[in-house]
Amino acid sequence: MIHDKSIELFHKAKQFMPGGVNSPVRAFGSVGRTPLFIEKAKGSKIYDVDGNEYIDYVCSWGPGILGHANDEVIEAVQKAAMDGLTFGAPTKKEIILTELIADLMPSMEMTRLVSSGTEAVMSAIRTARGYTKKDMIIKFRGCYHGHSDGLLVKAGSAALTQAVPDSAGVPKSYTDNTLIAEYNDYDSVRELFERYKGKIAAIIVEPVAANMGVVLPDDGFLPFLREITLENEALLIFDEVITGFRLGLDGAQGYYNIKPDLTTLGKIVGGGMPIGAYGGRREIMEMVSPVGPVYQAGTLSGNPIATTAGIKTLEILKRNSYYYNELENKAKKLAGAFIEYGSRNNVSLQVNQIGSLLCAFFTKEIVVDFKAATSSDTNQYANYFGRMLDQGIYIAPSQYEAMFVSVAHTDEDIEKTCRAISM
Ligand SMILES: *Cc1c(COP(=O)(O)O)cnc(C)c1O
Repeated sequence: MIHDKSIELFHKAKQFMPGGVNSPVRAFGSVGRTPLFIEKAKGSKIYDVDGNEYIDYVCSWGPGILGHANDEVIEAVQKAAMDGLTFGAPTKKEIILTELIADLMPSMEMTRLVSSGTEAVMSAIRTARGYTKKDMIIKFRGCYHGHSDGLLVKAGSAALTQAVPDSAGVPKSYTDNTLIAEYNDYDSVRELFERYKGKIAAIIVEPVAANMGVVLPDDGFLPFLREITLENEALLIFDEVITGFRLGLDGAQGYYNIKPDLTTLGKIVGGGMPIGAYGGRREIMEMVSPVGPVYQAGTLSGNPIATTAGIKTLEILKRNSYYYNELENKAKKLAGAFIEYGSRNNVSLQVNQIGSLLCAFFTKEIVVDFKAATSSDTNQYANYFGRMLDQGIYIAPSQYEAMFVSVAHTDEDIEKTCRAISM
């Protein structure tokens, strides 16, 4: 496969953008290759500037549940664009989308639309702090919630302490109110509530972690988080930026039947356009300005084109709820191919799969938390990535990302991918 044009563009891109990209994982750094520059995509296929075709399992990191350039979505977006790109004033479309969200995710009685997942999470946390009048939050190691200062953290040196910045440019003081617990580790959460009694505003969690590979909550974990937050008058925030409308129409909260106080959405909710959303119980959301004292605003929030793409995408999913079974079946086939490959070749492999999310880890350890996830042999992942790419299959250029299956993946695509996995 020839990548000359991508290589040339990457060289030029590096002159004008840091690392040649606008989001770091796109640079292919952890798999030791140069990134593909994409020309176009349709359905399950993505095409690079050298004319190579790939079956795409990145799906723009999650939004592409319908596959690329769905005809109905594109047509609606084109029509909306003719009426103007942005007004900075209310539109009927914002009501349609927020009502649709409330209908599909009943815990989101009221929603504020923003323009990215990062913004949704940042604002949800501000709202939780405003509502509870407390400052501290608990996040889990390995969960990603966007790149706002207070969330770019890693665990400090002593166990059970406050977090420290995980990026240059984040003042230590900005992370003082972020506490880190371990995913699926009940005691780590209990101990933080004991140590910081009466100070914790909220727990934020990816109900299925999909930014350290895919890590499932154990059976009692989410109910435990619900219970301990209620006991301590803290809010439970589900970051469903990936899981929302992916695990089902009602997201992970429907799948696991847990009602969070606040939910953040992104990715699928924008149908491929930039939207984030946060919402929850009316009394909490009425803390947000202009009703309440928690300030939050956005020039392009509720943008009519993005909103159109989101509405269309959710309407299509709602109309075809059987998609979710199909998605799961496809993901199960892929998971099966990994397991078979591992056992046939004596490779230590763990496959975590739920709905249309899956991830293979090259480790002996059962992957239930960050520590196990990072025991994966990333060199083996890089080899696997390269083998797949050379066979026309585009997967995430990093171990710590999910493989996303879309409605547009055909049986033929899945079979071809299974064959590629087993080679
Ligand atoms: C992608 C992601 C975000 C950040 O969303 P952006 O739109 O990239 O800012 C936040 N939380 C989770 C769980 C995500 O997967």
